[in-house]
Amino acid sequence: MAGIRALVAGNWKMYGVSDSLAMLDELASGLASGPTAACDVMLCPPSTLVAAAVARTKDTQVSVGGQDCHADVSGAHTGDISAEMLADAGAIAIIVGHSERRAEHGETDPQVRAKAEAAHRAGLTAIVCVGETEAERRAGQAVKVVSDQLDGSLPDAINAGNTVVAYEPVWAIGSGLTPTPEDVAEIHTVIRDNLIARYGDSGVDVRLLYGGSVKPANAVELMAVANVNGALVGGASLKAEDFLGIIAAFRS
Ligand code: PEP
Repeated sequence: MAGIRALVAGNWKMYGVSDSLAMLDELASGLASGPTAACDVMLCPPSTLVAAAVARTKDTQVSVGGQDCHADVSGAHTGDISAEMLADAGAIAIIVGHSERRAEHGETDPQVRAKAEAAHRAGLTAIVCVGETEAERRAGQAVKVVSDQLDGSLPDAINAGNTVVAYEPVWAIGSGLTPTPEDVAEIHTVIRDNLIARYGDSGVDVRLLYGGSVKPANAVELMAVANVNGALVGGASLKAEDFLGIIAAFRS
C-alpha cells in the first residue's frame, strides 16, 4: 500500500563466519553511494555473528536481526537463544516460523506464535513467515494454508511497529522458481484482508514481504506487486552485489 516504507531483509541461514562480515562494509558503502534507497535494509546472520554485525553496521543504514528464538526468556534449553538475548546483542527483529524451521524442527503455528510473542516481549519486531508447499499449491490449497498459518501464528495484538509478515512459498525458496506476479498479488491481498479483518486499522500498514528466489533480475517485477512491501531474501543476501541489486528496485 502507498505510504508503507518497504523493508528488504536478508536471511543468511546457516552461512557465515567472521570473515563474511566484510560483506556488510560493501553493503553499507553501496547504500551510502548513489540514489537513496526508499526502503529499510536488514540482515539476519547466524546468532554467532549478530553482535559483531551490529557493531560493524553502527552508523550505517543496515540493521540486524536474528533468525529464530526460543519462546522463553531463559531456562534449561541447551543450544537455544531467547529474544531477550538477541535484543541484548543489538538485534531489532527476529524471523520466526521460517519454513525451514517448520519443516526441519516441526515447528507448529502455536509455537511460531509463542516465538512472535517472545519477540514482542523483548521489544523486537517479529518477521512471521507463512507459505504453502508445492503439493498444497497444486491441490489449490495455497490460500487456505496461508490463512490458517496467519490465524495460528500471529499474536492477538500486532501492528506495523512490532510485526512483519513474510509470504514465502516453500517451493520457491532456494529453487530459482517464483510465483507469477498475479499469484503473489492474490496471496498478498488475502494476507492484507486477513490482517484488516482481525486487527482493524492496525493491520493496514503491517509490512508484507515476498520471499522465495528474489534476485536482482526479478526484484523490480515482484516488488511492484500490490501489497508487496519488500522482500525476504535468502541466497541473494550473501553477496553485497546481489543484495544491492535487489535494493535497487527501491532506488530512483
Ligand atoms: C528464504 O529462505 O527466506 C529465502 C527467501 O531464500 P531464497 O531467497 O534463497 O529463495
